[in-house]
Amino acid sequence: MEKPEKRKRPEVVLQPQLCKGCGRCIDACPKHGISFGTEINQESGHVPVVIDREICNDCGLCVSACPEPYGLGTEPYGLEPEPYELEDPKHLFGERRPERHKAETIEPRTVPLPQCEPLVLKGNYACAVGALLAGCRHVYGYPITPSTEGAELMAKLLPKLEGIFVQAISEVATINHLYGCGAAGLPTMTFTSSPGFSLMLEGISYMIGAELPGVILNVMRPGPGLGFIGPEQSDIKLVCRGLGHGNTHAIVLAPTSPQEMLDLTIEAFALSFKYRNPVIIAADGYLGQITGRVNLPPSMVEPGLPDWAVWGDAGHRDNLVRSIFQDWVELEQHNENLSAKYRRMIRDEQRANLFRADDATTLIVACNTPARTAKAAVDTLRRDGVRVGLFQPVSLWPFPIDKLTPLLETAKQIVMVEASDGQLEDELRLALHYAGIHDVEIHHVRHMGGILPDEQEVTEKVRDVMGVRR
Ligand code: SF4
Ligand code: SF4
Repeated sequence: MEKPEKRKRPEVVLQPQLCKGCGRCIDACPKHGISFGTEINQESGHVPVVIDREICNDCGLCVSACPEPYGLGTEPYGLEPEPYELEDPKHLFGERRPERHKAETIEPRTVPLPQCEPLVLKGNYACAVGALLAGCRHVYGYPITPSTEGAELMAKLLPKLEGIFVQAISEVATINHLYGCGAAGLPTMTFTSSPGFSLMLEGISYMIGAELPGVILNVMRPGPGLGFIGPEQSDIKLVCRGLGHGNTHAIVLAPTSPQEMLDLTIEAFALSFKYRNPVIIAADGYLGQITGRVNLPPSMVEPGLPDWAVWGDAGHRDNLVRSIFQDWVELEQHNENLSAKYRRMIRDEQRANLFRADDATTLIVACNTPARTAKAAVDTLRRDGVRVGLFQPVSLWPFPIDKLTPLLETAKQIVMVEASDGQLEDELRLALHYAGIHDVEIHHVRHMGGILPDEQEVTEKVRDVMGVRR
């Protein structure tokens, strides 16, 4: 009887232009039939491996080990990639048509909320609730005290709201998840604190360069380095002047209460889409942790979809977001456009809260938790007839100099109250300088390391400065 013909194994073939030279196949080969190559492939710029056909018995183990989809394959199945609908939009949408169908922006919708009793919420939770009401269903984060509760709450709630929470492998990964999600035109945010925020700076620069929305809550804690987990306004210089490399700025909002943590988070999402730029919420460790009464707004936001989003449908298929410009002239123009956007922010987005400031001859300038102390000090001093008021910047960048300037007609002294070594004072001095105001005396009460200025030292400083005795 004739022996049946022995079935031949399909031949294993290397695609040199797709091989990255990682060497996994070398380890996988039981016959030591693959070795590192020595020649650069002109198409890929990598050095592909070499298969010794004299040794190889086509067992296929290297094919399984290769991380490249088509680096190693087998004949007759192998070399032509299988059509895969997500790889080539033409399998989904057909051939490109000469007349392009462009997506139109779907505007966000306002959805009324039923009236409810005020909630009692920790600051971090208030921020998370604000994000949900702003339509955010995609949150990425890496735990860091004193911000972690916000991410924890999102991890519990988002799966129930058809959303996604991903605990990233690091803050660097986190900010790049925000980049991707912002590029898809979706509202996205993260919760972090000072050391984590430092790690995100490069990614924030990329987001600004690519003009992507996203909200970053930085619950500031003392530094430098690991510092500790208490409250400090340690990153005001970073959020206002140091958002990674290049020509970068972002609107920075500074809450003083759980209510403002919620309200400013909602506002931050709107601003980040209005300007296609990240928005930073700068809180301090105390604000992340304190609990307070929080009223919910009468409505919430159902997000839309911007026309520029990199989204998986025919209308958005030509969209591209990028921060790389290989043409220098084009890159300068891009930077000019960013600067023009920053000027619009400076013109339109200055925010401040005033407390008994109209007739004040001395103003206390403070934000975050120190503004709460300063407000109490103003009350105490006013009871003694001292004409003092509080100027609380809500936007740290842009600094609300246009709101401050009219008050300086009457007030000729400023007392800065800060939980940092003058980082807010630097912003004030810069703003005064650019506004051409040079006739104001500036004094300060400062603490660091988690210690907050207390009411008594603020009142004493104001009395000293004003020459008022009890
Ligand atoms: S097919 Fe098997 S024998 Fe041939 S190179 Fe790959 S692992 Fe080695
Ligand atoms: S595993 Fe794949 S990519 Fe890596 S060296 Fe081998 S063929 Fe190249």
